Amino acid sequence: MIKQSSKKRISFYTFGCRLNQAETAVIKNSFQAGNYQVVDFAEPADVVVVNTCTVTENGDADTRKLVSKINRLNPRARIALIGCQAQIQKEKLAKLANVYWIVGNAKKFDLAEILQELDSVSTPQVIAPAIPREAFTIPVAGIDTDHTRANIKIQDGCDFFCSFCEIPYARGRARSREFQNILEEARLLAAAGHREIVLTGINLGTYANAEKNILQVIEELEKIEQLDRIRISSIEPTTIPRELIQRMAGPSKLCRYLHIPLQSGEDQILKRMARKYTVKEFTDFMEYAKQTVPEICIGTDVIVGFPGETDEHFAATCELLRILPLDYFHVFSYSKRSLAQSRSLTGTVPQKIIERRSQILRELSQRKRRVFYETQLGTTQNVLFENQKNSYWFGLTDHYIRVKVRSPENLTNQLRTTRFERIDGQTVLGTLNG
Ligand code: SF4
Repeated sequence: MIKQSSKKRISFYTFGCRLNQAETAVIKNSFQAGNYQVVDFAEPADVVVVNTCTVTENGDADTRKLVSKINRLNPRARIALIGCQAQIQKEKLAKLANVYWIVGNAKKFDLAEILQELDSVSTPQVIAPAIPREAFTIPVAGIDTDHTRANIKIQDGCDFFCSFCEIPYARGRARSREFQNILEEARLLAAAGHREIVLTGINLGTYANAEKNILQVIEELEKIEQLDRIRISSIEPTTIPRELIQRMAGPSKLCRYLHIPLQSGEDQILKRMARKYTVKEFTDFMEYAKQTVPEICIGTDVIVGFPGETDEHFAATCELLRILPLDYFHVFSYSKRSLAQSRSLTGTVPQKIIERRSQILRELSQRKRRVFYETQLGTTQNVLFENQKNSYWFGLTDHYIRVKVRSPENLTNQLRTTRFERIDGQTVLGTLNG
C-alpha cells in the first residue's frame, strides 16, 4: 500500500531576469525542510509560487496569463505572487482569482514562514512593505540540482534611475550582500557540485561591502578550490573596473564574457534615457576590452522605439552595433512603465516601426554571433558539459559558445577540452580532445 505524504505540495515558476532565477532557487530550497514537498511546475500542487517580473508590459501580461493557466490546469491550487510586480502592483494582483498571497521583494525570502498559515487564509494577504537600504544576507544556498551553473546574488536595487526603468521602485535602492555571506554560499554551492557560479545583481558593478568591491569578491571566490568558473552577469558600462578586464586576460577563473547594456547608439537618446555614458565612452571601453582579451564574448541589450527615436537615431544605433566588437544583442521593444520618468516623454514610436526595427537588430545579432563562432573554429576550448539531448552532449565555453559533441561517456558536469569543428545552427559542433 502506498503511504500518502501529509506534506503540502508546492511548485515554482519564475519570470524575468537571472536575479529572479537565483532568488527562486534560494526560496525553493527554504521549503526543502518542513511541511512542504517541492514538486515540478507541471504537477498538481497545493500552492503555486510565481516569481514575477515587471520590466515590460509583456512581463505584466505574462503573470495574468499564467494565473489563468494555473487556475485552468490546477484549480485546487492557491497562488502566491512574489517579487517585482508584487511589490508595485499589489492591488491589481490581489484581484486575480485564487491569488492568496502577494509578497513583495522585502519579504519574499520569508515565504516559507508566511505559508505556514496556509489553511487559515481565506482572503488575499498583501505583504509588500518598503524595501530597506541596508546590506543583506541570504540564509539558504541556491543549490540548483538541474544545472551545472548556479546563480549567486551579491547585490540588489539601483540608484541610477534611468528614465525608462521602474527597477529602483520595484527592487529598492542599491545595496550589497554581506561579503562573508557570499563566500559561505559559494562554498556550499561548490561543495554541492556546482563548478560555475554566476554573480548576479541589479547593478553588480556598484557592489560595496566590508570595503570590498566586485573585483575583491571575485579574487576571494577564485580561492574556492572546487570552483572552476566565475561568470559576471549583466553589468552597467560605467561600473566596470579596468582591472576586471585585465584579470580576464590572465590565468583566472573569471570567464572571458561580459554583458553590458548599451540601450541606444545615439547620444541624444542616451541622454533622454538618463544613461550615464556617451557613445564615445562606450566605444572606448569596448575597444579596450577586446584589445586586452581578444577572445572575449561581449553581449548587450538594446531598447528599440524609445520616445523620440527617429529613423536617423535608429540608423546610428544599427551602425554602432555593426562596428563595435559586440557578439550578440538582446533586443527589447520600448514599453511605457507607469512609475518610470519616460512615461511623460513625447515622440511615441508606432508599434509597426518598433517591430520592424527590432527585426533588423535581431537579424544583425544573429549574423554577429555567427561571425564570433567562426573566429573560434579550429581552436580548442574548455567546455563545461551539462546535459544530453538527441544523442549529443551540450555545454558552454567560458566565452559563452554553446557546444555539442557526441560521446559514449557521461559528460554531465565535466569540464573537457574540445576542438571546434563547424557551426551547426545555434551551436558549434566539436570533438573531445582526449
Ligand atoms: S541601471 Fe538603469 S536600467 Fe539598470 S536597473 Fe538601474 S535604473 Fe534600471
